[in-house]
Amino acid sequence: MCKHLQDLGDKGLQELMLAQDFANRTYSATTQSHARRRRRTSALQSTLYHAQQSLRKLLVMKAVYIPILAGVLLLLAITTVSILSVDASVQLTREEWLQPEENTLLNQLNAPQKVIVEVGGSAISSLKTLGFNFSEIMAMQAAAKEVHPLKRIQAGHAFIRHDTDSGTDVYYEIDAGQKLHLSRTEEGWHAALEKMSVTRRQVYVEATISDSLFVDASKAGLDDRTTMNLVDVFAWDIDFARDLRKGDSFQILYEEQYNDAGKMTGTSILNAVFVNQGRRYHAIRYRLKNGNTDYYSLNGQSLRKAYLKAPVKYSRISSRFRLARKHPILGYTRAHKGVDYAARTGTPIHALGDGRISFAGWKGGYGRLVEIRHTNRNHSTRYGHMSKFGRGIHKGVRVKQGQIIGYVGMSGLATGPHLHFEFRVRGRAINPLHVKHTPAKPVPKAEMAGFKRHANQLQSNLKLAAQESGWG
Ligand SMILES: [Zn+2]
Repeated sequence: MCKHLQDLGDKGLQELMLAQDFANRTYSATTQSHARRRRRTSALQSTLYHAQQSLRKLLVMKAVYIPILAGVLLLLAITTVSILSVDASVQLTREEWLQPEENTLLNQLNAPQKVIVEVGGSAISSLKTLGFNFSEIMAMQAAAKEVHPLKRIQAGHAFIRHDTDSGTDVYYEIDAGQKLHLSRTEEGWHAALEKMSVTRRQVYVEATISDSLFVDASKAGLDDRTTMNLVDVFAWDIDFARDLRKGDSFQILYEEQYNDAGKMTGTSILNAVFVNQGRRYHAIRYRLKNGNTDYYSLNGQSLRKAYLKAPVKYSRISSRFRLARKHPILGYTRAHKGVDYAARTGTPIHALGDGRISFAGWKGGYGRLVEIRHTNRNHSTRYGHMSKFGRGIHKGVRVKQGQIIGYVGMSGLATGPHLHFEFRVRGRAINPLHVKHTPAKPVPKAEMAGFKRHANQLQSNLKLAAQESGWG
């Protein structure tokens, strides 16, 4: 009897296994498709699993009434299995007309989303853009605190969100060699540092400007990204749109980073010398003990200052535009009271320094105007003729240096697209060139010796590379 039941039980088990196998095949056949179907299939699998488990338990039990009960249960189980199998096949046909809609939904769900941190942007704003709510962002911040605080994120670096069936992962590229990995588990957010292997290559390039910075740099073999970095490194000292002259020159030693796949993942300038109108500017990249990397002059002064040299970035496009249109760039005069920057409509306008928006609206001949009252409350800057305001730019809002506050246009009294820019001291427009720029914190005294050694090393590398390129 027991043997017979065993056989019957085995048969039932076999059928169950077959059904489960069918469910598994259905599952693997659709692995690339839909979460919803997976959920249904796994519900089916788990039902089968539980039925199987109960049956196994029953078979182990030796009580007298068990055979009858088992027989009934077996019948029940077989019926259930056949119902479920039918259901699964029905689902398959129904799935076909569900596919297109689900596909789009799922493609959106499974494709990683990427957000680049804007200048003046925060981890919070980036994570919001990726669709996280405030409490989740707080939880992520708390998780990341001991690993890589989210306060320490840098503009230009990316946050990536990847939703999969097993959960949600968020990556932040700390640098070419490591990333922060945040993952949502059942206990909440978990943070870890992940290493990426990276190959570095140092490159030396020098050029003299005869045409435009981008053209001459490119002729010398520099990629646009590194040229843009060069413009950014000296953004506090040189107004590339207005100050650049024929005969200006630069030497740079930079590093290219490649990932495992041989793809260039980044470039960073290690040491740069820029000669502008006979004045020589140095930039040494240095990483402080607190982990912040910045550029310093040879004597350890920060290149950062309270104000950028210009509110629009010099780019390949703006330089081309300037040449094509020969738009006069008006300088400061008693009649003009500002500086005009010719640029294409839509070119981003950056806050010259930290402060609070004191005006954002239409003002007569200025057209769309933004005024910022700076941290030094005697100082304010005005940006006129905008085509539109930057996102979230309203009166009273705090802005960070470099943040986009609006876009070039020709609103108000303007004959062509340009930015009218004013620097005001106690409400009176002055020549921006006469503004004293106070530098940010220098290299701390305790780290100065280390910085000097680093700077000297880079300087001799640069000289050596320059000699070599001279011989070549
Ligand atoms: Zn003007």
